[in-house]
Amino acid sequence: ELSKSEELISLTEKYGAHNYHPLPIVISKAEGVWVEDPEGNKYMDMLSAYSAVNQGHRHPKIIQALKDQADKITLTSRAFHNDQLGPWYEKVAKLTGKDMVLPMNTGAEAVETAFKAARRWAYDVKGVTDNQAEIIVCEDNFHGRTMTAVSMSSSDEYKRGFGPMLPGIKIIPYGDIDALKSAITPNTAGLIFEPIQGEAGIKIPRDGFLSEAYQVCKDNQVLYIADEIQAGLARSGKMFACEWENVVPDMYILGKALGGGVFPISCVAANKDILGVFNPGSHGSTFGGNPLACAVSIASIDVLLDEKLADRSLELGEYMKRKLKEITNPTIKEVRGRGLFIGVELTEEARPYCEKLKEEGLLCKETHDTVIRFAPPLVISNEDLDWAIEKVKKVLS
Ligand code: PLP
Repeated sequence: ELSKSEELISLTEKYGAHNYHPLPIVISKAEGVWVEDPEGNKYMDMLSAYSAVNQGHRHPKIIQALKDQADKITLTSRAFHNDQLGPWYEKVAKLTGKDMVLPMNTGAEAVETAFKAARRWAYDVKGVTDNQAEIIVCEDNFHGRTMTAVSMSSSDEYKRGFGPMLPGIKIIPYGDIDALKSAITPNTAGLIFEPIQGEAGIKIPRDGFLSEAYQVCKDNQVLYIADEIQAGLARSGKMFACEWENVVPDMYILGKALGGGVFPISCVAANKDILGVFNPGSHGSTFGGNPLACAVSIASIDVLLDEKLADRSLELGEYMKRKLKEITNPTIKEVRGRGLFIGVELTEEARPYCEKLKEEGLLCKETHDTVIRFAPPLVISNEDLDWAIEKVKKVLS
């Protein structure tokens, strides 16, 4: 007879499109860093839904905001104003230091928004000839799964069978400042990049790239657009990963933890000279800026700030990295990361190790075949982190 978990997995296999390859575990409950399957087995979440759950599963203050708002109003569409959107705009504007914010729902939609903003800015502000705008992106990027996002990708796996791709995109090697300089033309609208490449395997740009690229963009009137969807919002040990090189992008793209893992919400934030290019009718979303998402997001940002989760990530991340570097095993090629955003690169496939870690009660997901990503919720206690490190040592030694 099938267990409850096996039954649920077989339903998923039977009726669901096979666009993912999950570990064979069903999660039916969670609190903080701990999740539970229907059989009552407990696991520690070391992925945090790709950094969407930085505040921990079901943070009480975020859940309270969800419940309170659900009792009032959940959706108005933007045909009318709602009472949560204004306060949420102000909160995100203050957090990012930007004049204006535009809400969407998923990360990929926020990337679309940034892309459209950059193109229209190129025509309306920079004076690029119609339909000639170019966007520069970095090799091995991950910006989502929409046609714009996969058009920006350098991965054949993400693009195969989906052509034709969007024109006007140039790809440069991540960290290569000379390639950036040669890619720029008078038609360049913006550079869209991840300050740390998450899906590529927690790839940190070489020292100086973020700030040099910023200067090159300034010198050439090119928008410097940071996709902080995964690395931002305290994950890397700073509120924004661009702070690692003290640069403030022209546009932030945010998502994931913006909704505390409770409700999807994403946005772009920029000054008036950029986001001012949108007028009524030019962009939008039925659910974008809905009061339920805004209420949840306000609470999610408050938790990041009140609990100083960026500082916590920095401190615990340094500690964890030091401990992981103590493991001596020739299979380990490199331990790298910033804050609790750590990749352990192996000389072989990471998946079997993730399966072994699962047997030990630790949920991790391999990325780019040979990298194990460790990204627990930032609210993790010192004791729980030590427990996790012991398990990793056991499996990797
Ligand atoms: N950009 C980055 C850097 C991401 O890591 C992701 C998701 O992993 C996305 C964009 C896409 O976000 P979503 O899956 O919410 O569309």
